[in-house]
Amino acid sequence: MNPSQRQAFFERLRALNPHPKTELEYSTPFELLVAVILSAQATDKSVNLATRRLFPVACTPQAILDLGVEGLSGYVRSIGLYQGKARNIVATCRILLEQHGGEVPADRPRLEALPGVGRKTANVILNTAFGQPTMAVDTHIFRVANRTGLAPGKTVREVEERLLKRVPTEFLQDAHHWLILHGRYVCKARRPDCAACPVADLCRYRHKTPAPDGGARAQRPARPPRGEPPRRR
Ligand code: SF4
Repeated sequence: MNPSQRQAFFERLRALNPHPKTELEYSTPFELLVAVILSAQATDKSVNLATRRLFPVACTPQAILDLGVEGLSGYVRSIGLYQGKARNIVATCRILLEQHGGEVPADRPRLEALPGVGRKTANVILNTAFGQPTMAVDTHIFRVANRTGLAPGKTVREVEERLLKRVPTEFLQDAHHWLILHGRYVCKARRPDCAACPVADLCRYRHKTPAPDGGARAQRPARPPRGEPPRRR
């Protein structure tokens, strides 16, 4: 994709959704941090169901520390890998209180030093809570970046670095939300909805899903193309 195509790509996504937001529910950087830690390998919907019960009871590091791992587990039990996540959140709360005055730090090194916080989580917090133009590459962004030719890469880090270089500056702040939502609802993993895609003419994917009326004929790839998970038999 050349620079003018990349510009058009994001102009169209912006026109459809001028102020994209995370689908995780939160009202403070700390609540966002807890929700993002919980969301690893889980849906935003399942996290929201849990945090709607948790946050009215405990929405500060001290309150969650007081709940303890067992108390917190009672609220997040419906989320995959909840035991490890509960342990990490409680340990994170302790560090926030002991080292950061109970506040979520706004820089990468101190965020990534928190239990349960990797590069992607730090990118989400820096972008969504602190307004920094970071690129949190998840499975959706990885797939969209590779399929479309926007920023192809073999690793998440490679895609992140290419996106940071190639996304026009005016779109950098919101780009990761547009790409996640596009991947979640249109450019889906198993059957992308190419007929309804606003950027189909810019996209380089060779195996587009044909329109229901039999429009463009898509060939089924022999192997999963780059950016898709392996198919289960
Ligand atoms: S045309 Fe299809 S493959 Fe390309 S971005 Fe749109 S939905 Fe995804």
